[in-house]
This record gives sequence, structure tokens and C-alpha cells, in this order.
Amino acid sequence: MKSVTLNNGVEMPLLGFGVYQIPAEDTERTVSDALAAGYRLLDTAAAYGNEEAVGRAIRTSGIPRGELFVTTKLWVQDAPAEDNTRRAFETSLTELGLDHLDLYLMHQPFGDVYGQWRAMEALNRDGLTRAIGVANFYPDRLIDLIANNEIAPAVNQIETHPFFQRADYHALMREHGVQHQSWGGFAEGKNDLFTNPLLAGIGKEHGKSVAQVVLRWLTQRDVITIPKSVRAERMAENFDVFGFDLTDEQMARIATLDTGGSLFFDHHDPEVVTWLAKRRLDA
Ligand code: NAP
Repeated sequence: MKSVTLNNGVEMPLLGFGVYQIPAEDTERTVSDALAAGYRLLDTAAAYGNEEAVGRAIRTSGIPRGELFVTTKLWVQDAPAEDNTRRAFETSLTELGLDHLDLYLMHQPFGDVYGQWRAMEALNRDGLTRAIGVANFYPDRLIDLIANNEIAPAVNQIETHPFFQRADYHALMREHGVQHQSWGGFAEGKNDLFTNPLLAGIGKEHGKSVAQVVLRWLTQRDVITIPKSVRAERMAENFDVFGFDLTDEQMARIATLDTGGSLFFDHHDPEVVTWLAKRRLDA
């Protein structure tokens, strides 16, 4: 598996498996299938409600811990967030049945962001998570976080797919040493992504599916991607994406699909912010 080196020297696979919207009762089987297909990077979150099942699949796989890269995410915490964050982290670790994480992400740029980040810095210093990062941070929030804290995020996991490509932001993050990770790489199939004629045409030129073209396009831009599927045959298809290269001309054609906006949430919309920031987990 190709990997990238994060700003603190930690190696992270370029391709992994995401478990958002997989019901807890299906997660163990699904993650077991993904591990059998070769995935070693797993992406879950406290908010997904399936960390415990991910942990079970890890244990039954027998794969040595050092070969896995496990990410989970902190949900929005009230101020003062230092204690709450440590407690939420410990709950996630217990659910997963692990003694450390590879990457801990702040899930949303809301709540007591600075208290949450200071607690995450402490977890990193204590060796409980090998890297810390953020998700859904837009440029203004990311630069402010970097400017006012000791540890810069290793990763920013943001919506990125052919219809929202984030090229300028990618360059800015690279300038600041923050690794770009895509969520929703297939846009969850929105805008008829899987039958898009331009992507299908490029796929035909390589004998590849639209899904494979999208994942190659992301990884060729050094964007870490974590496609989700509950079907073993799609897991295998999505894992088999490094045996071909897109040409500059094909990359340029894909660039024309960018709409420059989200297909999911506007993190600057007051109603979205209120909804996300008020949603509290029981943990
Ligand atoms: P996604 O990966 O863009 O799309 C998943 C959808 O694509 C599912 O409906 C899946 O259906 C289908 N699919 C997968 N492979 C396919 C293939 N080869 N051909 C046709 N259809 C295929 O969506 P996502 O799960 O939202 O995003 C990926 C991961 O990013 C998540 O699982 C999660 O870990 C992370 N994420 C993070 C955030 C955040 O706020 N940080 C937000 C959203 C997601 P089947 O399952 O039926 O195959």
C-alpha cells in the first residue's frame, strides 16, 4: 500500500476504509471483509456508534496492531473541554479495545475548539495517539488553529470528490504541512457520480470503473481516501486502484467537473452550525 508521511513523521496509508452509516450490527462483518480485502486504514468516529464493532473485527482478524492504522473522531464538546475530551477519548479507546490510536480527529470545528485541541495535544504528547488532526475545517479556522497552538494538525479530513475538488485549499494545506484527506470521495453517489459520462469515458480508456477512476484521481493528487462499501466485491474493486495512472489530460478533464461547493453541508450556514454544535453524544 502506498503511504504518505505526516508532519510528525508518522506513515499513513493513502487508501483506507470508512464506516460511516454502516449500522453497528453490520459493522463487524463489513470491517472483517475489508481487512480480508487488504485494507489496513480504518476510519470510524464516536458519532458513528460502531466503534465497538470495529474493535471486534480488529481483534478477530489477528492482524498485528502495528500493521493497522486506526482513526476515530471526537464529537463536539462543551467548554471547558479539557476533561470532556480526555473522557471521550478514553470511551472511544475502550469501545475499540485498543491501547492507543493512530489518528484522533476533531470531528467538527465547533464547541470549545481550543479546549478540545489542547486536550488532543496532551493525548498526543502522552503517546495515546500517534497523530492528531481535524475534520471539516475551512481555511480560516485551520490557519487560526495552527497560528495559536503548539501542534499543527497532521490531517484535515474534508469533503472532497470530483464535484468539490478543493484544489486551492489542497495547496494551502500542503504549504502548512497538513495532509489532505477526503471524506465522501464518491459524493455518496450524489449527482449520479457512478454513471457520470466523463468519468465513465476515462474509465473505458483504462478498462476501469468510475469508482476506480475517482479513487485513482484522489490518490494521484496525494489525497488520502477512505471509500465505504458494505459489499465485498466493491471493497476489492475500490482497493485495486494503483495499477494504472491517469494522464495529465485526463486529470484536466476531471478538473472541469468541479462545482466549487459542497453537496452536503455548508459549515458557514448558521442553521447547520446550530444543528451540529447542539447535537450531543451520550458518551
Ligand atoms: P462515499 O465513500 O463517498 O460513498 C459510499 C457510497 O458509495 C455507498 O452508498 C456505497 O454503497 C457506494 N459505493 C462504494 N463503492 C462503490 C462502487 N465501487 N461502485 C458503486 N457504488 C459504490 O461515502 P461516505 O461513506 O460518506 O464517505 C467515506 C468515509 O468518509 C465515511 O465512511 C467516513 O469514514 C468518512 N466521512 C467523514 C465525514 C466527516 O465529517 N469527517 C463525513 C462523511 C464521511 P454500498 O455500501 O452499498 O456498496
